[in-house]
Amino acid sequence: MLPAAQFAMAAADLHHRTPEFRALYQRVLGQLRTFVGTQNDVVLLTSSGTGAMEASVANLTSPGDRVLVLTAGKFGERWTALAKAFGCQPDVVSAPYGETFSMEAVRAALREDTRAVYMQATETSTGVRHDVRAVAELLRSTGSGAVLVVDAITGLGTTHLDMDAWGVDVLIGGSQKAVMIPPGLAYLAASERAWQRMETTKNPRYYFDLRKERKAASKGESAYTPGVALIAALGAALDYIAAQEGGDLARGRASLVENAETCAAMTRAAVPALGMRLFAPSAPAAAVTAVLPPQGVDSGVIVKELKSRFGAIVTNGQGEMKGQLFRIAHLGFFDPLDTLALLGAIEQVTADSLPASKFALGDALTAAQRVFAERSHAASSTARVEAAMAGR
Ligand SMILES: *Cc1c(COP(=O)(O)O)cnc(C)c1O
Repeated sequence: MLPAAQFAMAAADLHHRTPEFRALYQRVLGQLRTFVGTQNDVVLLTSSGTGAMEASVANLTSPGDRVLVLTAGKFGERWTALAKAFGCQPDVVSAPYGETFSMEAVRAALREDTRAVYMQATETSTGVRHDVRAVAELLRSTGSGAVLVVDAITGLGTTHLDMDAWGVDVLIGGSQKAVMIPPGLAYLAASERAWQRMETTKNPRYYFDLRKERKAASKGESAYTPGVALIAALGAALDYIAAQEGGDLARGRASLVENAETCAAMTRAAVPALGMRLFAPSAPAAAVTAVLPPQGVDSGVIVKELKSRFGAIVTNGQGEMKGQLFRIAHLGFFDPLDTLALLGAIEQVTADSLPASKFALGDALTAAQRVFAERSHAASSTARVEAAMAGR
């Protein structure tokens, strides 16, 4: 965790119905609007990311509504389960784990009475990037009345997203991923169309009534007791991101995206040199890279060895992918230096634990170094930030 965020958290000894807290809350909500990159109102919820997902179903649908879920992994499946829990009828477009769905399939599944479309920007369980822009364009070009809800919990800060220009109705973020503070906060931005929809929908909501939060937020308050210390930490983390680009948070976010794209590209180049394969080669996310270990090797062994020998954290596959792949995160404040160190550690673990594999120490590092050199020589850092802001 970022030291500045840790200090802010420890120092956040304030009551939430005070002018001091209202000032903090208003400042953080403003920063979040910039971090999300929108003019829309943002609300902050004291819950994990799934709370904001649930709120996006409870507030935007009525029982019996047809909704479309686009899924290719564990988090996509969560949308289907949530839609069912709130009495909606989900049509599901799915792609195999490690892939993204085709736009033809989405077009074919979209119905006149589809009320909402739910998807991820990046599917964290498989390391896949979905094409939010193409889905938004499809909805727009077909004149669909469906609201588009995007779980960008690992997409924000790792992928270029332009909510307002593309026409995304709800964009969801969480605290423990891109900004690397502890879990416990979720936030979402909602378009005017989404706010209007909430006035007529019939599904039950109480704690997650977004209209109530929006109204309270306009007065600098939260509807219920907020996670005060986490909000202070979030403010400090966003200050840090802004400080990377001279205090400009929009540029700071673009540089965070560029950093993730660089670390992910370095990692992807290194994987074949380790005698391993990428799990999602066709649409890889910059948030996380999923790696298939050599044939016959349990990915859990690699996860354990990295932890015990180097104190390095990678995660095992989720659900039925456990043992079959491991995932390397590029979120937040991991940088190219961390990436090189981790790849070096993976080389050591591979050499010692998997003697059958065919590779030489240094090959993966060389491949990653080449990518880093190409990317840093290709453009000045200012030009790279600008390219990231434009989504190139
Ligand atoms: C982490 C994550 C979530 C939220 O999970 P919580 O455990 O509720 O914070 C949702 N979607 C994606 C894509 C995630 O990576």
